[in-house]
Amino acid sequence: MKKLLSLVSIILLSLNLTAQDTYIHAGKLVDTKNGKVLKEQTIIISGNKIKEVRKGYSDPANPDDKVINLKNKTVLPGLTDMHVHLESETNPSKYLQRFTNNPADDAFSSIGFAEKTLMAGFTTVRDLGGSGVNIALRDAINKGKVSGPRIFTAGKSLATTGGHADPTNGMNNSMVGDPGPKEGVVNSVEDARKAVRQRYKNGADLIKITATGGVLSVAKSSSNPQFFDEEIEEIVKTAKDYGYHVAAHAHGDEGMQRAVRAGVLTIEHGTLMSEETMDLMKEKGAYLVPTITAGKEVTEKAEIENYYPELVVPKAKEIGPKIQNTFSKAYKRGVPIAFGTDAGVFKHGENAKEFGFMVEAGMPEMEALQVATLVPAKILNMENESGQAAKGFYADIIAVDEDPTQNIKTLENVVFVMKEGKVYKSE
Ligand SMILES: [Zn+2]
Repeated sequence: MKKLLSLVSIILLSLNLTAQDTYIHAGKLVDTKNGKVLKEQTIIISGNKIKEVRKGYSDPANPDDKVINLKNKTVLPGLTDMHVHLESETNPSKYLQRFTNNPADDAFSSIGFAEKTLMAGFTTVRDLGGSGVNIALRDAINKGKVSGPRIFTAGKSLATTGGHADPTNGMNNSMVGDPGPKEGVVNSVEDARKAVRQRYKNGADLIKITATGGVLSVAKSSSNPQFFDEEIEEIVKTAKDYGYHVAAHAHGDEGMQRAVRAGVLTIEHGTLMSEETMDLMKEKGAYLVPTITAGKEVTEKAEIENYYPELVVPKAKEIGPKIQNTFSKAYKRGVPIAFGTDAGVFKHGENAKEFGFMVEAGMPEMEALQVATLVPAKILNMENESGQAAKGFYADIIAVDEDPTQNIKTLENVVFVMKEGKVYKSE
């Protein structure tokens, strides 16, 4: 017994001696919680969490500890993008690829997209819809097989027949079929229930619906309502049983209002939002996820001949230019905002462009940082683990050359990325 005890103590002692901490010396540190930029701080990291944050530059306690010098950088917690599509990226052959790509092709591409996203400083993302490859991607990242952000995924989003995200929209009669709840197409209360439960079975983390028409689907309307009240209500109610929140894509006001009334937590895009809907969102505590960058991108690409199908071009020209202005109005009226870009509609890794557009539309720099850190953490039930560089939080830490509260564009060039204590980028 005595022998065993001493063996245990030797093991414990050796574990303690080899436990290597990392000390980050941060010239400036963004304190997202208090909305301040602190000078000369030391962040001590043990394993995948932050052990302590100290004033001044502390020397390591043990000879094995590692020091990372970011004394001439601004350090901040890893960013979260609440709206990405990691399975794909815009390109002129995208519509053709619906017929030529196998899921394995998308899976291989998604590895690169996930890596670019992480390298751009986004350590957490919400993937709002793909074929289901996004679920396997999340698991592969969690197991350390590939590098990427922490993913919360909707799997395949839910639409109604012919609606935005009906997977066979625009196909010829021999291919169009009749997709149902399993494929993410819902046309009744029963279907709604089944589709949510199917997403649970598939391993999704949340539910995404397309409450109105959309720009990039091969269908006529960008903004008509596409779900009845009772269908959305059933989705929200069923989702609750699995601890899921519901995100709704919406450009048109009627569909958006139905979604907010039914208890959807985040409205994506929100393009044609009325003041009445803005007030309803405030009342319900629903968030607008603006995706201004995607709006700018589709406006630009619609001018290139044959980049988008014929049916898509007028929708892109109509909706794209309006998103930034809606964001501005909604923000000024007090609608809660969460950072999201729709990356995939534009190139992955350019997510931080959204910050510049938000600031241009009237949001102060610090608040733009908070809606990309603190707010997503709250929505994703990670309030005590993500969104702050503080004691007990995940060691998701990034750095930029300049102070982003002085120059927000510096976020477009992230020079250091750590996720859960592991360094992925250090320039
Ligand atoms: Zn989207």
